[in-house]
Amino acid sequence: MKFAIAATSISILFLMISCEKSPELSLQTTTTTTQTSSSGIINNVIPTSQEIYDAFVRLALKNSNNTQTMTIRKWATSKTQIKVYWDGVRTTALFTALDKVIADMNSLNKYSKLVRTEVVAQADIIINRVDVATHNAKYAGFQVTNTTVQGNTFTQWNNTEIIKSVIWLSPSTPANVQNGVLRHELTHALGLGHIENTKSIMVAVMSGINYDFNNYSVLDQRVLQILADARVKQGMTEVNISTVIKEYAAK
Ligand SMILES: [Zn+2]
Repeated sequence: MKFAIAATSISILFLMISCEKSPELSLQTTTTTTQTSSSGIINNVIPTSQEIYDAFVRLALKNSNNTQTMTIRKWATSKTQIKVYWDGVRTTALFTALDKVIADMNSLNKYSKLVRTEVVAQADIIINRVDVATHNAKYAGFQVTNTTVQGNTFTQWNNTEIIKSVIWLSPSTPANVQNGVLRHELTHALGLGHIENTKSIMVAVMSGINYDFNNYSVLDQRVLQILADARVKQGMTEVNISTVIKEYAAK
């Protein structure tokens, strides 16, 4: 089944997983964002079972602004490869970070593996790191409207699965936080929204969190494992999968 984005927009639910009203990833170089010490890193902090349960519900079953209950959005479990294409400005550092994010995601999902592609026509996820004007001119259906943010992720899905994701990254993001923005946006592309718990990289504003941007926290690992479980299917509600969530939360 093929989907022509422009022609079938009525049948395709479209979501911009980001904050339109409130700034997303408003990373200020003057904040304490980068003043993390190894002793303060929260990545390895073991979350409580309730935290894991609540985090999954918030990230996978609510919209980003926490104003609406959603059903599960994810790539089809039968889709064994999700191809990632990098458009715009490339750097060695960002590609190293991208490969690490992909490796981390793949270690948590035994069904769908992310792979990089150099063929844009084959891309399921496009990462475009370029100024807003250039991005908006090229990606008409994925317009960045808030120019103060560091990243935006646009995810399209039909009633059964995510079919495409376009990520815009600001080229002016400071080098010491760009890995965090990349990991955050790519995690959106899996079907997750935002959360207020700062043990997650999916907080809308990352300033001041003591998160190691080159790894997932234990909390985020659990959430991604639950989402990847084959029993968690597109369109399901909390009632449908509460036992699965509790199973991981108890680990
Ligand atoms: Zn976000």
